[in-house]
Amino acid sequence: MDKRTINDIDVYDKKVLVRVDFNVPVIKGKITDDNRIVEALPTINYLLEKGAAVILMSHLGRPEGKVDPKYSLAVVSKRLKELLPNNKVIMAKDVVGEDAKAKAANLKMGEVLLLENLRYDAREEENDKDFCKLLADMAEVYVNDAFGTAHRKHASTYGVAKLLPNAIGFLIQKELEIICGTIENPKRPFVGILGGAKVKDKIGIIDSLLNTVDTLIIGGGMAYTFLHAQGYAIGNSLFDETNVEEAKKLMKKAEEKGVNFLLPVDFVETPDFNDVINYRNTKDQNISEGYEGVDIGKKSVKLFTKAIKKAKTVIWNGPVGVFEKKEFAVGTYAIAKKLTKVKGTTIIGGGDSASAVINMGLAHKMTHISTGGGASLKLFEGKILPGVDVIDNIN
Ligand code: AMP
Repeated sequence: MDKRTINDIDVYDKKVLVRVDFNVPVIKGKITDDNRIVEALPTINYLLEKGAAVILMSHLGRPEGKVDPKYSLAVVSKRLKELLPNNKVIMAKDVVGEDAKAKAANLKMGEVLLLENLRYDAREEENDKDFCKLLADMAEVYVNDAFGTAHRKHASTYGVAKLLPNAIGFLIQKELEIICGTIENPKRPFVGILGGAKVKDKIGIIDSLLNTVDTLIIGGGMAYTFLHAQGYAIGNSLFDETNVEEAKKLMKKAEEKGVNFLLPVDFVETPDFNDVINYRNTKDQNISEGYEGVDIGKKSVKLFTKAIKKAKTVIWNGPVGVFEKKEFAVGTYAIAKKLTKVKGTTIIGGGDSASAVINMGLAHKMTHISTGGGASLKLFEGKILPGVDVIDNIN
């Protein structure tokens, strides 16, 4: 790791502006999963112990550049106070306005200030220069520990880093070390599992994983475009006509590289996405007319879990079925369960597959569950994250 980390900087008696990812699920005013706040604590506590005054900034949901109380970080501030009982934790009423500026100016070492939702201001996502400056003016050091948004070039993740001495926090450091370390040096057999809805989002990652994995398992809505390209009937299943040629190219590449490219060999089909009564297992890869594929079938579960059983390294992103409905979550859950038996490294790339693993109570049996879906996918693809790239290297 050649990026500067918080171990490499002096923060004593300094105001440190920290980008964290507090984009937690909130239902009826209550946080339903505080994992992202908990994961930011090592960095926050370290900075406080080293004598910093910590200014935290995050987004929550998509307020689309407007102040909307529904997306206020007040609920996070309340939880943060509980998690930091020995430190003064206050919150600003705005992001870079008079209240934030005044509270930042008066902040003392060992105290924490949480700014209001960054996305209340449209300039955040535009990486606006003036907005970056207003953020930077409140502090003397910048730390990025928001792995979940490190793939975005926003003011708080990118632009502001150029204006202050900077470093990455412990969470980003941990994510990079585990994900990049594993992908660059996998124990074999190395199995990649990709699911989710759209082929177009995953083409880049399939293409680059084909250079490194021994087996690539494809499930979920994107499998049907590959099966259509092979001439199977896909009924009303998800289909991306514009990427059929791309799918053919990827399958050819897999063959050339000697990668075991596994597509489902049967499915669970239902007349309608919402119909959880009239579903059935198909005989083979073909989906019946008037039906759509919503999960991998029994034979596919066997095929996929057999490949996973032999693996020494597995990375997984995306459910292999419409797992939000329990009737169609069987395949996704079977994969999650099999991963717990792997004698090696298992990395879950955030998002829906992470939710599936957590909901099943299997999180502790995985090597690593990433806090960032989009960001971990970029790392799987071998890309550099702008929010990390912008941080200075250790001299
Ligand atoms: P993504 O954001 O691309 O990872 O997609 C996740 C979504 O894919 C989840 O909401 C799943 O319900 C959906 N999904 C998985 N399998 C299918 C399928 N066979 N048909 C439609 N949607 C699916």
